[in-house]
Amino acid sequence: CGIVGYIGNLDSKEILLKGLEKLEYRGYDSAGIAVMNDNGVQVFKEKGRIADLRNIVDEDVVANTGIGHTRWATHGVPSTVNAHPHQSNSGRFTLVHNGVIENYDILKREYLQGVALKSDTDTEIIVQLIELFVNEGSYTEEAFRKTLTLLKGSYAIALLDAENNETIFVAKNKSPLLVGLGETFNVVASDAMAMLQVTDQYVELMDKEIVIVTKDAVKIQTLNGEEISRDPYTAELDA
Ligand code: GLU
Repeated sequence: CGIVGYIGNLDSKEILLKGLEKLEYRGYDSAGIAVMNDNGVQVFKEKGRIADLRNIVDEDVVANTGIGHTRWATHGVPSTVNAHPHQSNSGRFTLVHNGVIENYDILKREYLQGVALKSDTDTEIIVQLIELFVNEGSYTEEAFRKTLTLLKGSYAIALLDAENNETIFVAKNKSPLLVGLGETFNVVASDAMAMLQVTDQYVELMDKEIVIVTKDAVKIQTLNGEEISRDPYTAELDA
């Protein structure tokens, strides 16, 4: 299972699909991508192989920002509905997640009684919580932080906000996640191998860090809002 993300000058679809293919070796049961442009966010997801996903991606959609996921089901059977990305009920927030949210049932009962969930995953509660907190008045980054502080378990997350197509919100705890740096773009990946096609410059993320990724900046912070600066390293392809 794995995550990829791209924000920059190029069309993201092919970069995301290639990235997911590079992550196939980790094993997965379904895959999906979400791409975002001025017209909003579009999700394509499918049970089965990346090749099956490729078949349903609309060739005509051009989008400079996107996230992708291969799923290894832990909560909810492998199916197209349970595949990631997951969206909040209004469609504003779109999220991919690797890992396991141990307290998802408690959070569901405590916060999401009035929210109709579409999937059987632990993941969906993350995106619905973000929307709930935004509906209660938080701005997106704040709602994301608030949600992350409630989560128990492991996660690598990439989040899109349809009202801000200049940003990918990222966080991690106990699941691998890297940010890759380019001249006119930045990327997100579980494994540098996925995005070596576009860059070999990576910044490692630590647990409980949140990252605001735009096409020309990467802002790393702790969950408490402390800014972190960390130099990139050069990733090399293992022979
Ligand atoms: N726990 C999530 C699910 O079952 C994510 C699984 C994964 O890491 O791919 O959907």
